[in-house]
Amino acid sequence: MDEAKIPYHLRDNEKKFPQLKPLMNSSEAYYESSRCLFCYNAPCIQACPTSIDIPLFIRQINTGNLAGAATTIYKSNYLGNTCGKVCPTEVLCEGACVFNKINIQSLEIGRLQNFATDNAIQVHQKIFDIPADNGKNIAVIGAGPSGISCACELRKEGYNVDIYEAKNNPSGLALHGVAPYKITNKEALQEVEFLKEQFGFNIFYNKRIENVSDLENLESKYNSIFIGVGLGNSVEIKIKGEDKINCVGATEFIEEIKTKPIEKPIAKNVIVLGGGNTAMDAASESLHLGSEKVILAYRRSEIEMKAYRFEYDLAKVSGVESVFNVAPIEIVGETDVEGVKFIRTETINGKLVNIPGSEFIINCGLVIKATGQMKQTSMLTNIKGLTFDESGRISVNETNGQTSNLKYFAGGDAVNGGAEVVNAVAEGKIAGKGIHEFLSKRN
Ligand SMILES: Cc1cc2nc3c(=O)[nH]c(=O)nc-3n(C[C@H](O)[C@H](O)[C@H](O)COP(=O)(O)OP(=O)(O)OC[C@H]3O[C@@H](n4cnc5c(N)ncnc54)[C@H](O)[C@@H]3O)c2cc1C
Ligand code: SF4
Repeated sequence: MDEAKIPYHLRDNEKKFPQLKPLMNSSEAYYESSRCLFCYNAPCIQACPTSIDIPLFIRQINTGNLAGAATTIYKSNYLGNTCGKVCPTEVLCEGACVFNKINIQSLEIGRLQNFATDNAIQVHQKIFDIPADNGKNIAVIGAGPSGISCACELRKEGYNVDIYEAKNNPSGLALHGVAPYKITNKEALQEVEFLKEQFGFNIFYNKRIENVSDLENLESKYNSIFIGVGLGNSVEIKIKGEDKINCVGATEFIEEIKTKPIEKPIAKNVIVLGGGNTAMDAASESLHLGSEKVILAYRRSEIEMKAYRFEYDLAKVSGVESVFNVAPIEIVGETDVEGVKFIRTETINGKLVNIPGSEFIINCGLVIKATGQMKQTSMLTNIKGLTFDESGRISVNETNGQTSNLKYFAGGDAVNGGAEVVNAVAEGKIAGKGIHEFLSKRN
């Protein structure tokens, strides 16, 4: 995508966020691809939620067949470029690569994937043949990874697909949430442009589907509806002082730094509450933005953190400090945040308890709450007959993504409770196939 076409506020500040996995040049790609052993029953394929034939595309790169490599990738994963950049490859394909067993650096599968798919995007390679319209219409709610993937799968079968997106850009959290040093805004946006060119689905922006009448409208116009709305805002921690200026949710903080010009310097001292991957991202990003001291505060022990080890290591290498077994009990300050009051915790008989009298304060000018995202409930509860599991996730038939209201299918974070882009892509595709099968049987 031409840089000039990206709105000012979405251009990346590449100096602040150098890419962790920069694009390979052709010599690097040739060398790296020549290391692959092209394993039988390759464990890297089995570790990929979208089952990309990794040894095949690596061989295609090695023999100079870049177009073939991109075709192999996109036939399995419609967001092959985004996934190459943002997937936790360390625990998926690269983590499964046989080289790990002999303590040799695994193949850089993610970067090779990007080498092939970036070329396809730049040269506008035509990969898919779209059949004539089959006369049936599908609505997709949400232009995140799950919605885009579902739309591609359905266009491949000739459905007319309209995506309704609440925001003014596509890509969902791949644009608004994923750390800017993993993927640039330009990369996230240009892959969706490429897919629009390939498949010809429509995206209507600033179209939040919210109330019963919005839903009835869709139900009357479309044969099936896919729900790919993801999750909601950061959860509240419900402690005194949470409403102070500069006490913010992690997803809102990250969206702000990714999509708005940075107008004022970030606080010198930052406390990030939480122990998941989002907490690691928010902490590293604060340092990249110029904070002098960033402390990660987690209520349990280091080994109980949910974050991937490599994400925690990355935060530590960036200079993030940590305190464990501390629970926030108050955000202190007048109108602005001045610090966090903690109490120490310990685990007794498997239960986390506060240690009376152990309260202490750490000063800071910004608190980032990375303690999870809320479920999207208001719109979903307006859908008749939609059922949820005990954690508030939409219940679906896992084999085809169909919900308890047979007109609706769903996938991505709204169903899995929050996983990775690659899972959302895989589930969007399953639902696309499910919709096709369901509508084909009916006529
Ligand atoms: C901070 C953060 C960092 C992350 N980092 C990574 C990472 O490094 N690697 C990785 O693989 N995954 C990462 N993830 C997870 C990943 O981004 C998600 O799993 C993935 O984007 C989910 O895709 P989705 O389509 O289900 O939902 P989303 O990406 O959330 O997309 C949902 C879309 O629906 C739209 N929408 C919502 N409600 C409505 C409505 N009522 N009407 C119309 N549109 C609506 C939203 O605006 C959004 O565009 C991260 C998540 C977060 C929060
Ligand atoms: S496991 Fe590693 S060496 Fe084997 S096919 Fe996959 S990438 Fe190549």
